[in-house]
Amino acid sequence: MADITLELSDQDIKVEIPEKLIFGRTLSNYVFEIDYDTEKGGWNNPVIKAREKMPISPAAMALHYGQAIFEGLKAFKRVDGSIAMFRPQQNIERMNNSARRLCMPEIDPELFMQALKKLVKLEEAWIPEKPGHSLYIRPVMFAYDPFLGVRPGEQYKFVIMLSPVGPYYPEGFKPVPIMVTDKYVRAASKGVGECKCAGNYAASLMAQAEAKKMGFSQVLWLDGIHQKYVEEVGTMNIFIQLKDEVVTPRLTGTILPGVTRRSVIQILKDWDYNINERDISIDEVADAYRKGSLLEIFGTGTAAVISTLSKLKYNDLTMQFSDTEAGELGKKLYKEITDIQYGRKEDKYNWMLQIS
Ligand SMILES: *Cc1c(COP(=O)(O)O)cnc(C)c1O
Repeated sequence: MADITLELSDQDIKVEIPEKLIFGRTLSNYVFEIDYDTEKGGWNNPVIKAREKMPISPAAMALHYGQAIFEGLKAFKRVDGSIAMFRPQQNIERMNNSARRLCMPEIDPELFMQALKKLVKLEEAWIPEKPGHSLYIRPVMFAYDPFLGVRPGEQYKFVIMLSPVGPYYPEGFKPVPIMVTDKYVRAASKGVGECKCAGNYAASLMAQAEAKKMGFSQVLWLDGIHQKYVEEVGTMNIFIQLKDEVVTPRLTGTILPGVTRRSVIQILKDWDYNINERDISIDEVADAYRKGSLLEIFGTGTAAVISTLSKLKYNDLTMQFSDTEAGELGKKLYKEITDIQYGRKEDKYNWMLQIS
């Protein structure tokens, strides 16, 4: 395995974290970069260097045919002063799963891990220390070769960048209004729904824009075949708490296998909840609401961790939860996961990977 070259800038680049952080706006000074070239025998030249603009041909294949995948994970400055990432191995595996599905080259998991550790450690000062803050880590890979024919790329760039982020809900944990869409689908059976690939997000923007216009912050997606079974909420996995059961849709290939989802399932099992990964139709959710046995719905994802619903609109029915107070179970899970992330609680699952 090639060592990662460290090219420190001779310019005096400063660490300036804005007072008010907007998610995804601020990037740190350095990036990890590695190139892939079939002709050169694969991945070559792993380097950590100052982030700069990247020349790209207008014919670069990712721009035309969408070979672009990404990941999202976080590093935390913890209460004991140490720095740790949350379950990075999971993101490394998922990135390679996405790569295989899109005919892109896999990246050596050890090199990937080393790059994460080395870059985050170098950019330690970019991890904000205020409550609920962290360093969002964004790996991305895309086809780079200038070529207009449709085929898998032969040149790729893999880049890891870092972005300091504040809490997703700066005014506190706020429930969000969601509407069910049956006008659009996010993912087709046997398609790429389980990959974190760029095209999935482009395809979802219109549904979200229309929901926003109607006063909702996101859509709840139904399955692409029957438009009947619940799949995800926005770019989060979904959990539905019924009276005697918590349900999350099973992974059918159209659902993104979230790391937060997996963690929530584990915690709920340990708390002796009856947690089931199974199909759940939107009509079952509506029936449970009418019968009074629908307690709470929440989404899970790296950025917000947990996001509970204030209401869910499905045709003429508006399932109303609290507009002001987050759901009980959602709040409890948010506290548990963030306590582990910030080291306020023992990490009994061994989820945190300490960097320094
Ligand atoms: C990233 C993502 C999630 C959440 O995954 P985490 O690993 O928990 O961040 C859920 N759904 C979609 C569509 C996603 O892109």
